[in-house]
Amino acid sequence: MEFMSDMLSGADSGKPSLFEIVAQHKMSDLIEPALRHVTSVYAHRYPRYLVRILNWHEEVYAAIMLLVERHYLRAYGGSFAEHFYGTKRVRTRKIRGDSSLTRGDVWGSLALLVGLPLVKSRLDQYYEKVSGGAAARLLGSSFAQVGQSQDPPSESVSSGSGLYGVRRRFLALRLSVERLFKLCYPHVNFVYHAATALYYVAYMFDRTDYNSPWLHILGLQVRRLSAADYRAMDERGSGTSDLAAPANGSPIRFVRNMVAYLLSGGLDFLKVLLPLSIFFYRFLEWWHRSDFHKKIQMTPPPPPPMPLKPHPDGLAVPLDQALCPICNETRTNPAAAPSGYVYCYPCIFNHISEKHTCPITMAAAHVSGIRKLYSDS
Ligand SMILES: [Zn+2]
Repeated sequence: MEFMSDMLSGADSGKPSLFEIVAQHKMSDLIEPALRHVTSVYAHRYPRYLVRILNWHEEVYAAIMLLVERHYLRAYGGSFAEHFYGTKRVRTRKIRGDSSLTRGDVWGSLALLVGLPLVKSRLDQYYEKVSGGAAARLLGSSFAQVGQSQDPPSESVSSGSGLYGVRRRFLALRLSVERLFKLCYPHVNFVYHAATALYYVAYMFDRTDYNSPWLHILGLQVRRLSAADYRAMDERGSGTSDLAAPANGSPIRFVRNMVAYLLSGGLDFLKVLLPLSIFFYRFLEWWHRSDFHKKIQMTPPPPPPMPLKPHPDGLAVPLDQALCPICNETRTNPAAAPSGYVYCYPCIFNHISEKHTCPITMAAAHVSGIRKLYSDS
């Protein structure tokens, strides 16, 4: 693979191989499910705070990633995953010899990195809804449409005037939009995926320097970090600590610098934390799937509770367990007294309503404590 990647990236050592690009995309795709899994694990424990986050997971995730990616784009010129793999984005058209990202490039990249996946996922969900979901795929679309809203009736009730008419026209419009979307979206989706695949192939064979059509539109390339980039990063890394020093500024500025410093330090720490969360997620997945954890947690089951002893003055427990201690016949409609002993329901009901005790243990009992047994053992 090493050889293959070297061969295909040709003489241009700054151009990352397709394998690196795919690895970056894979990593970005993994962070979301990993965080979702970790959140859902903790939502079981703290549902009060985390269930709401889980319900809005995609939006919350997008907001967090917006912050993270913005930091990495501004500080390192690449997305989080790109920086992780030692690459960055550069402008194809340099501005006065400088290929680093402008504000517009950063926001364009953010729209691509954060906005596009969110919109795509929302559209996928909407398509799933209008197309009838999995039932339609398995059983044909006509099946799934049975439960859905049908076409608006063509014969008009009041020639479409008034509020009712407006609402009906709105419904009809919505239906036709849905139908159009249902018709077009698979094609749009196909073009989207085909274009991505085409760019991968073209990138692999050095026909293009852009690894995706979107980067081509933005005019940005992904390049390996050079030694000069690393040096610049080191210098800036030592420079940021100066920020925290209370240099000739007011306390407010000092606090602001301090917060900015801590925030950027925290975001830089994600370099370690996010990959760790992926490994954690993979580990949890394996853990829940394998029965390894069951072997570790091999605690013996708790012993059954001690049965109440029959009272000397009470009825004897029949040797045949199928018999009712009161009528000494095969139990009908079995019911348990609060003591746990089982009788026919009519027998025990009459006994307890008269004597208010269990006939075997003589323990106090009330008719409300009688429990019907649904499987007579
Ligand atoms: Zn009985």
